[in-house]
Amino acid sequence: MSYISEIDPEIANALSLEAQRQDFKLNLIASENYTSRAVMEAQGSIMTNKYAEGYSGKRYYGGCEFVDMAENLAISRAKEIFGAEHVNVQPHSGSGANMAVYFSVLNLGDKIMSMDLSHGGHLSHGSHVSFSGQLYNIVPYGVSQETEMLDYNELMEIAKKEMPQMIVVGASAYSRIIDFKAFREIADEVGAYLLADVAHIAGLIAAGVHPNPFPYADFVTTTTHKTLRGPRGGMVMCKEEYAKAINKSVFPGIQGGPLMHIIAAKAVAFKEALSDSFKKDQEQTVKNAKALCAALQDREFDIVSDGTDNHLMLINLNKYDLTGKDAEVIMSKAGIVINKNTIPFETRGPFITSGLRAGTPACTTRGMKESAMEEIADFFKTIIDNRENDAVLETVNADVQELCSRFPIYEHLG
Ligand code: PLP
Repeated sequence: MSYISEIDPEIANALSLEAQRQDFKLNLIASENYTSRAVMEAQGSIMTNKYAEGYSGKRYYGGCEFVDMAENLAISRAKEIFGAEHVNVQPHSGSGANMAVYFSVLNLGDKIMSMDLSHGGHLSHGSHVSFSGQLYNIVPYGVSQETEMLDYNELMEIAKKEMPQMIVVGASAYSRIIDFKAFREIADEVGAYLLADVAHIAGLIAAGVHPNPFPYADFVTTTTHKTLRGPRGGMVMCKEEYAKAINKSVFPGIQGGPLMHIIAAKAVAFKEALSDSFKKDQEQTVKNAKALCAALQDREFDIVSDGTDNHLMLINLNKYDLTGKDAEVIMSKAGIVINKNTIPFETRGPFITSGLRAGTPACTTRGMKESAMEEIADFFKTIIDNRENDAVLETVNADVQELCSRFPIYEHLG
């Protein structure tokens, strides 16, 4: 940080405060993680200086021989991790990756069947405030009211009735295993393309602790910064027959020059994702989520769908007469960083909500195991029981800091 301190002390100060926040707050945001120092080194590297419009071997600029090496490595490693026939590592974000898929094979106004935002889907799957909902005709599906899980028979009925051109599977707040084979059968029944957006569960898939969407999906999109623990960015994978259409759609369709420093960092993250220690961490992420979920249920918290199979869980706050928005603020006073979230069949708006989403990727990356999950569940209970008592919340904050100091982020991660 010495260069930044000298040139821009204000940004140096913001960075230093952010480092302290990350060190001493307990991060339960299911979509966040800590990248390795190697990933950050690539991300902050000289490859940021290079323009490389086009693809490896076919660029619109000279001097691309070394960025080509980075992009080729990122692609071959992603293929190995996910068993993909074709990979495009250039999308700047998960939303952009989804846009690239829609633009590659759909016409404007086509029907996309996707999970409703309030049931766990993502904005870019068809929300009316996103390009996806504005450009396409969206047929939403949700979870069953009874089980709060996907009901594949019901999905088949909706698909047969609506005959969508594309079915999108994947979510930001769904805590159960997704049956990609069942989605393939539904897509085949109605002749739809199948897109699996695995942004949340990509790391689990890489480690074999969640089923892989290939060979069932035609397209797989992901972010690279959630469970996958890479730099902030996106990626599209697909069957070979769509390779050309996807490449054209990403560049020049929706993007200009790729971020080569980010692509280099993606390559580093993918190398890490092929390691045994990454696999162990992903296994532990799921063990921790199950342990935290059970410990919260022991303390009488209501969990959507009564459990979790992956890295996250949704807490239904209705019985406390507390909104997700207020709960997020109270948790933050006690040093816990978490986000409000809609729950299935939500009665409140997305800025208020009736739930909290809790995830274990970040705390697992700093080395926490099941016993720490018991401590965290105790914090939750004390916080909820004393939500109007700032002195108690302050005590929990001190305990949270003490827990975090036992698990320095870069001691476990290296
Ligand atoms: N898809 C899913 C399932 C997500 O959860 C997210 C992000 O939260 C995205 C796509 C979008 O990623 P980005 O924020 O990089 O656009």
